[in-house]
This record gives sequence, C-alpha cells and structure tokens, in this order.
Amino acid sequence: PEKNLVEILQETTSKYPTNHALSFYGRKITYQQLLGLSQGFTSALQQNQVQKGDRVALMLPNCPQYVISYYGVLGAGAIVTQVNPMSVERELEYILNDSGAETIVVMDAFYPRVKSVQPRTNLKNIIVVSLQPSGKDFTPDRSFETFLADGNGKVTPVTIELEHDIAVLQYTGGTTGRSKGAMLTHQNIVANVLQSYEFFKQEFELGKERCLTVIPLFHVFGMTACMNLTIFTGGESIMLPKFELEEVLNTIKNEQPTTFPGVPTMYVAITNHPHAEEYGINSIKTCNSGSAPMPVELLREFERKTGAKILEGYGLSEASPTTHCNPPFADRKPGSVGIGMPSTEYKIVDVATGLEEVPVGELGEVIIKGPQIMKGYWNMPEETANTLRDGWLYTGDIAKVDEDGYLYIVDRKKDLIIASGFNIYPRDIEEVLYEHPSVQEAVVIGVPDPYRGEDVKAFVVLKAGQTATDEELIQYCKQNMAAYKVPRSVEFREQLPKTQVGKILRRALREETVSK
Ligand code: ATP
Repeated sequence: PEKNLVEILQETTSKYPTNHALSFYGRKITYQQLLGLSQGFTSALQQNQVQKGDRVALMLPNCPQYVISYYGVLGAGAIVTQVNPMSVERELEYILNDSGAETIVVMDAFYPRVKSVQPRTNLKNIIVVSLQPSGKDFTPDRSFETFLADGNGKVTPVTIELEHDIAVLQYTGGTTGRSKGAMLTHQNIVANVLQSYEFFKQEFELGKERCLTVIPLFHVFGMTACMNLTIFTGGESIMLPKFELEEVLNTIKNEQPTTFPGVPTMYVAITNHPHAEEYGINSIKTCNSGSAPMPVELLREFERKTGAKILEGYGLSEASPTTHCNPPFADRKPGSVGIGMPSTEYKIVDVATGLEEVPVGELGEVIIKGPQIMKGYWNMPEETANTLRDGWLYTGDIAKVDEDGYLYIVDRKKDLIIASGFNIYPRDIEEVLYEHPSVQEAVVIGVPDPYRGEDVKAFVVLKAGQTATDEELIQYCKQNMAAYKVPRSVEFREQLPKTQVGKILRRALREETVSK
C-alpha cells in the first residue's frame, strides 16, 4: 500500500463527496461531512497536546462518533486503542494501563466505569459521547461536541511511516485467556483492506455498496470488513449498535444492504426466526461469516431459508484480520474457510515442533505470512517471539488443507480434548449435534476425569418448542461418531455464554464445570 487510511478517506471523499458514508437511525452523514468531522477531531486532539504515537482509547458501540474518532486519532498519528465497551472494571483497567492511554472517547453509558478506574490509570482526557447531546460537559470531563470545538480548523501534518508506525492496538478477544494488544501498523490495516477488495472485486460496485454494520467496530472484523473496506469503496455503512434480531431484520428490509459481515451466532438467530424468508435477505449479495466456525448444517439451513449466500472466512486480530475466505469467483466449500487472500502464504506444520510441513489432508497448526500480519504484541516480547517466528504467524489453530488449497479450521490447540490418549476435536462432535433436528446451538468441552484424564461434555440449547433428552442426544452421537468421542454427559441450557462478538465462551463453561 502507498496510502494510509486517512488518505484513503480523503480520496474517497474527493470521488464521492455527497455519497452517504454513514447511516445511523435515519441520520445520514456524507463523506464530505465525515472527513470534515474527523479532521475537526484531529485538530482538537492536537490542540489538547495529543502527539504522534500517543494511545487514544475508544470505548464505543457502533455509532458515527466511533468512525469520526477513529479517523481523527489516525490523522494525528496517534494509536487507536480498541476497548470492548462491555469490559468490566478489571479488564478496562488492564487495557488502559497496558496501553498507557491518556485519552479515551467513551459512550455516556460506560462513563461511570471509566471514572471509577481513572485514579488507577494515566487517563487525563475523557471525552464523552451522548447520542442525545445536551450541549453540557460532564464536569470535569468533556462532551464530544465541546471537545470538537477545541479544534482551530487546522490539522498540523504528521509524517506516517506505513510499515513502522502503529495505527491500532487491537486487543485480542480474550476467548482463551488474557487479552493481548496486537500492534497493527498502517500498512497491515490498509493491506487487508486492499486484499479484501481484490478478493471480492466482482461483488463490489464502487460508490454503491451498502454494508450492514452490526458486528462491533471495536472488533477487528468489524473494523476492517465494515468500516475501512466500505470507506475504501465509497459505500455506506448502515450502523446498528447491537444485534437485536427484529431490528436487524427490519433494517435489512428497509435499508436493503448489499453486504453483511456477520458471525455464526447471528446467522443462527436469523435462521431460527419463524419468518426469516420475509425480509428480503436474499437481496444481500454476500453474507460473510467469520470469527468462529460456521457449522455446515447451519450454513445450509440459513441459505435454504433465506436464499442468501454465505462466504465463510477466517482471520484473527493478529492478521488485521482476514487471511482466508471462500471465494466469490471459484468453488465454495462448506466447512472450509476457503483459500488464502491475495499475497497471503500459509502452511500446516507439525503441532509439536512447529517446523515440518505435514502432508495434504493431515492436521497440524496453520501458520501464515503476509502484509496484514501484525508487528508484534504490545509490551509482550516473549509472547511475540512465540507467535511470530521467521515472519510466520503461529495461529494456535489446528487445521488441514485439501488438494485445492482450501483451509479447514478444526479447533484451537487450547480446546483440544485428550481422553485416554485420544485427541478429540470438539468441532467434530459439535457438527454432528447441529445435525440433530432439535438442536439450536451446541458446544463441547473437556472436563477432568480421573480415569480418562479428560472426558467429553456437551452443552446444548434446544430450538424453541423442541424437546430432546440427554440420552437421546448421546444415542444420536453414538450412531454418528467413534465411541471414544461420544459425550459422556449433556447439559441443557437456555443460552450459552458468549463474548461480545458472539463467540461461545468455552473457557467460561470449563471454569463453571471445574468449580462445581
Ligand atoms: P484470544 O486470542 O485472546 O483468546 P480470540 O481468539 O477470540 O481471543 P480473535 O482474534 O478475535 O481473538 O479470534 C481469532 C480466532 O478466532 C482464530 O484464531 C480462530 O480460532 C477463530 N476463528 C476465526 N474465524 C474462524 C472460522 N471461520 N472458523 C473457526 N474458527 C475461527
């Protein structure tokens, strides 16, 4: 890449000044307005002594102020530090101290949480976003509007070195443990935008796309696929701050988005809506699924019910995020996450040594190289050395490739269950459970067992109005998988614990089971 994101926004604005960039509950913001506001934000940051390289935390759900601040921070050469708004005090304090952020932009609903940790952090500037601004400050802190008024209409130019300068600290989801700050450079992020554009080019009409932006922008998938890619193509982001099924369906019906990056749990919810076919979901050209595995049966059911097409992809915070996707221009293979993005190399290596490549079809750890791969983890040299070796990103995911180069993610190394010496991959069992007609969601974990070391336990959410007993599901598994994999127990739940992006939190289920 030759341009940074701010330059891309400028270029799009000069091509499509009056196109809508953002839409939020009927409020429309054009590219001209977005650029003006983000430059205003840059100017205000500079007037408040925010320098190149300073970390500025954003703790916001999807809303126009998110995009304005994000581009505003980058314009000042500062580093966007992504904070999940659902973070509890302990997590928030950790990220603020780890990043050393002195400035935060926060939605008013979360302001009390920021105030309560402030004394134990370096925070100096707190900028509060309200969706219904009152024009008043939050003494002693500032409202977004009065902060913007500090700008003097000028931006002092900063030099950005694409390859070296960090644009974003993307804290990993913490699905498996302590969250780590992936340092994404300007080059990493722009590279992934360009790679994605190149890959989906035939699906995109410049200046015309409408992206349903419901996955959170503080998560790397939303950041790239919904925000930055849409701005690159001159399209419009139709923003929703959270996933509410009826609202999402009505937005699809009324706004007719053309693309919908989503996560499997969103597609589960849509598939299980009794009238999913009535909302014109088939007018969406591509539903991109990523972040977590898309069970094959679910993909088929979603497509059958809605007439829309899912392209499943794969990525991670450390890769800005996308490295693989099922292509719009060649075969899609359900169950696979597709082929590599342009300029992306990948191979499957021995899990234990991380060195020897394993033959086609065999399992190993997937390692990846490409311009989208992070510079390292912030303040974590040891973790960085473990994860980045010789320019290869060690993903911690167990996978295989087929003879056409399609990648299949089997499981995370950390989720592998070892029972009586057998390696058991939770996903194998989950795929079978999803095929059972009564099952809406299923997840499998290993629980300690005195004889087998670990044993298999399934947690299941049943479809509304359906019944099934644990014996019945265990019997179903026995008919469909080798005996050593069959869950010993099944627990029924009304819902499963999930991360803010909708990933099922096996860690929480394991902790509950162990502490019982
Ligand atoms: P942490 O690394 O802190 O535990 P996290 O892994 O949830 O958190 P992310 O970077 O958001 O952080 O997630 C990346 C991981 O998500 C991948 O390593 C992979 O395990 C999983 N993943 C992403 N897409 C898919 C997919 N299509 N199929 C299966 N797994 C996927």
